[in-house]
Amino acid sequence: MKQLDTFARIPLAVLPTPVQRLENISRMLRTNVWIKRDDMTGIGLGGNKVRKLEFLLAEARAQGAEVVFTTGGAQSNHAMLTAACARKLGMTPILILKKRGVTACRGNLLLERLMGVDVRFVDTDDYQDIYDEMDRVGQALGRPYYKIPCGGSNAVGALGYVACAKEIADAGMPFSHLVCAVGSGGTHAGLALGAKLYLPHTRVIGMMVDTDPFETIVPDLMGQAAALLETDADLGPGDVCLRDVCGPGYAIPSEEGMAAVRLMAEQEGLFLDPVYTGKAFAGLLAMAAEGAFAPEDDVLFLFSGGAGGIFAGELFADGGTARADA
Ligand SMILES: *Cc1c(COP(=O)(O)O)cnc(C)c1O
Repeated sequence: MKQLDTFARIPLAVLPTPVQRLENISRMLRTNVWIKRDDMTGIGLGGNKVRKLEFLLAEARAQGAEVVFTTGGAQSNHAMLTAACARKLGMTPILILKKRGVTACRGNLLLERLMGVDVRFVDTDDYQDIYDEMDRVGQALGRPYYKIPCGGSNAVGALGYVACAKEIADAGMPFSHLVCAVGSGGTHAGLALGAKLYLPHTRVIGMMVDTDPFETIVPDLMGQAAALLETDADLGPGDVCLRDVCGPGYAIPSEEGMAAVRLMAEQEGLFLDPVYTGKAFAGLLAMAAEGAFAPEDDVLFLFSGGAGGIFAGELFADGGTARADA
């Protein structure tokens, strides 16, 4: 197997991120709940995409790219963090976003405006249209460019979360469970592969906040990342454990998700987001209610960031989205 440190990587994140025990929530759930603070990765408002971008932007730089394209929904955390990291490295970010969700200058779009980023919208449901548009724009510019897929979720990006699993293993705490949100799949794929390699006693559970076929997306990404690493780890269906927490739809707050956001805010003074981490933590709460965790278990929740999403929509307004105070 190839070692992780043989891959090109640009240090962008402040690592290792802290691990904290959620004292009040642990008492409530009668198990040990810990939080991995990947909201504190140290650039932008923090978040999981920074770990992926350490590998992706290293590849971009190695290929001589001056312009970096990426995509996502209008309020994509990944797009905002890609722009922030590209700016830091002196590359030019261009975001070609799906015209879906909140397109007003709020949340992440506001942060992108502060960074003076070129943001364009394409009215499509198919990312292939957007990747084609990147090629048109890139060729018209005549500068070397690099395309990062939605969520940074390819094999290279997933290495960021293989490395995160190693970071957790190196800290020496034997977690029984590791819970993360699944939006494009790279985080879960990296963690599940990393767990296979470094955390054999930890069960990784992915909470799906979108309706894509993650039952095939996540194992495919795991297999591709395993191939990059040239590991002969024996991957099977048992390595990927998924639960649907999407509710009314991607980026539409759910009642359970908003209850989890408020619980974390009231009990621990931490602000989960309505799109990813609130719904993912609601999934953890549902598992606890079903008796999935024993008192002696140590459950680690990945706080993958998402703060921009808190300020994007009308969390407490009537109409369209679930009322937060319902
Ligand atoms: C992108 C994102 C996720 C999901 O990670 P994927 O690798 O896309 O599955 C989770 N939380 C936040 C805050 C994100 O921005």
